[in-house]
Amino acid sequence: MVANRGEIALRVMRTAREMGIRTVAVYSEPDRNSPHVLFADEAYLIGPAPSSQSYLRGDYLIELCLRHGIDAIHPGYGFLSENAGFARAVEQAGLILVGPSAISMDLMGNKLSAKKAVSDFNIPMVPGTPGAISDMAEARKVAESIGFPVLLKAAAGGGGKGMRVVNASSEFEEQLQLAQNEARSAFGDDAVFIEKYIGSPRHIEIQIMGDQHDNVVYLFERECSIQRRHQKLVEEAPSSCLTPEIRKAMGEAAVRVAKACHYYGAGTVEFLVDEDLNYYFLEMNTRLQVEHPVTEMITGLDLVRLQIEVAEGKALSFKQEDLKIHGHSIELRICAEDPRNNFLPDIGKLERYIRPQGTGVRVDDGYEQGMDIPIHYDPMIAKLVVHAETRELAMDRMIRAIAEYDIRGFATTLPFGTFVMQHEAFRSGHFDTKFIERYFKPELLDSQSDELVEIAALAAVLFQDQVKKGGPAAATASSTAAPTGGMSAWRMRRS
Ligand code: ADP
Ligand code: ADP
Ligand code: MG
Repeated sequence: MVANRGEIALRVMRTAREMGIRTVAVYSEPDRNSPHVLFADEAYLIGPAPSSQSYLRGDYLIELCLRHGIDAIHPGYGFLSENAGFARAVEQAGLILVGPSAISMDLMGNKLSAKKAVSDFNIPMVPGTPGAISDMAEARKVAESIGFPVLLKAAAGGGGKGMRVVNASSEFEEQLQLAQNEARSAFGDDAVFIEKYIGSPRHIEIQIMGDQHDNVVYLFERECSIQRRHQKLVEEAPSSCLTPEIRKAMGEAAVRVAKACHYYGAGTVEFLVDEDLNYYFLEMNTRLQVEHPVTEMITGLDLVRLQIEVAEGKALSFKQEDLKIHGHSIELRICAEDPRNNFLPDIGKLERYIRPQGTGVRVDDGYEQGMDIPIHYDPMIAKLVVHAETRELAMDRMIRAIAEYDIRGFATTLPFGTFVMQHEAFRSGHFDTKFIERYFKPELLDSQSDELVEIAALAAVLFQDQVKKGGPAAATASSTAAPTGGMSAWRMRRS
């Protein structure tokens, strides 16, 4: 059973099918006709739209498994994937969770207990309070000694939620109360702690994979510094800034983090990296990550297959020294949100949906043309992943693939992707988590698309010219030309 929806449910089921495993989908009412439901061998309706009444009903999912002879659950990401209580209930029901043990989740699911668990393993950490804030005066003292700005963080936080920057001592009390209230309503836990706010860090994380026989390897890094609201939009592997020595040191540190919680399965150890390439442990995500495809592209491994094999008790079939980085991969999260309007969700009906194709392009998605994007869930509708020999070629391939991708009915992050791939700071590799704040303005998207239209118009004129002269374009033109002609096809794309 895949206890999830959308692109990740499909992605997991595809691998299961390759392995000869029968798949079971679960779905909420609005997801009735979703691709993941149609793909699965069996599917069960689990409730209405709100996730608390459907995808988060752990007990009911377990009951369904027992009733229908389903022996394992893959939780995907989000929803129940990092819920130690659910993991324990699955174990107790005699079922297999494709993921780490409940004990590892307990330790790593909470940012504070994670820091405590790794404190004896020589892992550099961002300076901050070791426990939740309980006394206002004392907390303010700690913040003052760390030096403003500081970051207030929900211990149970995730998905970029539950963080507040405090710029001065005078705001501390008010911000702390807001942070605690937010944490309580979002995560049911008001524990908040203080971390030094690193001004311009890069977010670099290490993918690890462990088996149930104490083997843990790292599958190199992913750089995820292009973020809005502390959440990733563009990810790549490898990072443009790591040296082989630091890659190895971070990889080995990540393996120590995994060993600190007797980890098995796929996991991600997240770090912040400063200008001098000092790295600091942030948290560990005890699940498959959204951006795992870029790691698959550069290692040639199928992470879901490895997860399932580990869950079956198999030992990893390779060692650290067998792993190599092949080429470069970039992922763009295609979210139903408007980069022209603060990246706010902009959902609607998927009126037209044409995927890019060709060499080195992978699309992981969970919708088809004509479907409505429900407001109840994450606005990410697809992931566009490219792979090429070099970073430069990967960026160019991404620009090409974005231009081929035709999504209509609502705004998406596609044009933002082109902006990033063309931006000098990204191209040169000199960027950090402030990229959007520092460089992005909605007007730049418009000027960029005007420029593109101009280029397209020019190309069309040249093309028509060639056709008239019977040049090399003539053959292609006669077989593919739309009745409206190349130029107006470009115009149509704009409208
Ligand atoms: P990743 O760390 O894999 O890059 P994100 O931080 O973008 O993932 O989160 C992936 C998905 O999981 C999103 O739908 C996000 O809202 C959800 N998510 C992650 N952590 C939590 C959490 N602790 N509570 C609720 N939702 C979460
Ligand atoms: P989440 O559980 O929501 O993923 P993380 O601790 O992984 O939370 O942080 C998410 C993002 O927030 C990071 O990638 C980074 O951009 C920013 N961030 C987190 N901690 C700090 C910090 N101490 N200083 C500066 N930025 C931070
Ligand atoms: Mg994180």
